[in-house]
Amino acid sequence: MIDMQQLMAAIRDSRGILLTTHCNPDGDGIGSQLALYHALRAGNFPVYMHNRDAVPRIYRFLEGSELVGQGLAFDVADIDLIISLDAGSRGRLGFADSLFAGRTLAVVDHHVSNTRFGDINLIDVSACSTGAMAYELIRAMGLPVSKAAACALYVTLLTDTSSFRNVSTTPEVHELAAELVRAGAEPWPIARAVYEDRSPACFRLQVRCMQTLELLHDGRVAWVHVDNDMYQETGSDGEDTEGLIDLARAISGVLVAVFMRPGDDKHSWKVTFRGKFDVDVGELAVSLGGGGHRHAAGVTMQGDYHTIYNKVEQAVAAVIG
Ligand code: AMP
Ligand code: MN
Ligand code: MN
Repeated sequence: MIDMQQLMAAIRDSRGILLTTHCNPDGDGIGSQLALYHALRAGNFPVYMHNRDAVPRIYRFLEGSELVGQGLAFDVADIDLIISLDAGSRGRLGFADSLFAGRTLAVVDHHVSNTRFGDINLIDVSACSTGAMAYELIRAMGLPVSKAAACALYVTLLTDTSSFRNVSTTPEVHELAAELVRAGAEPWPIARAVYEDRSPACFRLQVRCMQTLELLHDGRVAWVHVDNDMYQETGSDGEDTEGLIDLARAISGVLVAVFMRPGDDKHSWKVTFRGKFDVDVGELAVSLGGGGHRHAAGVTMQGDYHTIYNKVEQAVAAVIG
């Protein structure tokens, strides 16, 4: 609560607020950022948005997503408060250290692995999404939840609970969802935009990816990957990999699903984990230098595919027993 008071005071005192989220942003990062943007704008606060990476295509239907700059669309000298949303560590933001110098950094996040890297740290590991925390902040400040903000917040619930399916889906989550629907968020058009507006290239990539399936450790580990050749052959890109790992996890008997895809530079791979029962893949990812939650986590690793594969497979073997 002290952190919430501190954050509200910092917002009220600020000359310029920058909202940002982690690199390769997801629905929770973009949704919490946009919702807070709409609410703070409505309250006449000087608020701006900037991320390292572009808004993924599936979230561009959200109002205000076109305002999320990559090139800075404002004078950075005007910023004295940076609010980091849904990032577990400062490195996840992907910005140079100089951006943070002389500015207050406030962290709003729900990752267990959060390193408390802000001057103000509003961390709630029981929150289903960072968006749910942004909602609390908006309400605590007496700001309105417009239709645009409600849609953005609904997206954070939908995506971070894996469509109201995962362990963080509490009665309170459904209650908040109901409130957002009453405020104008329309479940079907939102679900359609997020899950059912994929290109044929994306579908073809899914086919290629599923062909790589390996079942290890007596079927308790499912392993899939995509590489640059598959992107080229199908005309797809990294954004089209969203949800692929969930298909691998859906296989009966699988405790851990692993998905690998090329990183942002030639020498790195993004490794994503999903867990289904007791294995804590968040801890697994942390042990490899990444982060995440009990049933969804990830890490970016430097090296070639086979070296990383072996390293990750050893770590998986150790937790699978
Ligand atoms: P994803 O599979 O990309 O949806 O990621 C699942 C979760 O893993 C996210 O909520 C992040 O918290 C975490 N995560 C993914 N990639 C990384 C990374 N490179 N470093 C730290 N955490 C990550
Ligand atoms: Mn996220
Ligand atoms: Mn999140």
